[in-house]
Amino acid sequence: MTKAVVLLSGGLDSATVLAKARADGYACHCLSVDYGQRSQAELDAARKVAKALGAAEHRVVALDLQAFGGSALTDRAIAIPTGGPKAGVIPVTYVPARNTLFLALALAWSEVLGAQDLFFGANSVDYSGYPDCRPEFMQAFETLANLATRAGIEGRRTRLHTPLLRLGKHDIIGLGVQLGVDYAMTVSCYQASDLGEACGQCDACRLRRAGFVAAGIADPTRYR
Ligand code: ZN
Repeated sequence: MTKAVVLLSGGLDSATVLAKARADGYACHCLSVDYGQRSQAELDAARKVAKALGAAEHRVVALDLQAFGGSALTDRAIAIPTGGPKAGVIPVTYVPARNTLFLALALAWSEVLGAQDLFFGANSVDYSGYPDCRPEFMQAFETLANLATRAGIEGRRTRLHTPLLRLGKHDIIGLGVQLGVDYAMTVSCYQASDLGEACGQCDACRLRRAGFVAAGIADPTRYR
């Protein structure tokens, strides 16, 4: 089987991407990043999802972004917004350069594994306006990946797969249900409890809940 590195946060989108990569026949080496995020429950969720969906391997790599802070997810002094998204404003839940860092880690591991395929659950439709979720960013990263690595120079090109990039949240949920994802295992909330219970108020909760409603599928999220 062809090896792929799949970034797995423990949330709804990345679980769907893992299911898609498995359905496409890849042996999936899943990478989660413990970056000092508020919700450690998402890492527990990632472990469960990796196991349930037949990952070949799952690793959790530590990257201390609390050292910089600058985001409501990495600095507890900054409150998580709960009033809904504001048009044209990048919310304080944006973590500076996070997707660049995560993809760089995935790229590093892929080169060691001899994998040429990276899977990433970014979404540019139902998202919070983060600059590193846009299609232009994904294209630029793929270009960088092939300039930055020995594999790229030696002709083993890296492909960045973002199968959810242009899907609405309800389409993502529909796809995942078809592929057998149990969304009860996943945690999307920015401030989930240690048990993985969601707040129901943050942007991640709002997008997720609206997705289940639009998909006409019962929301299995545990709310506190
Ligand atoms: Zn929440």
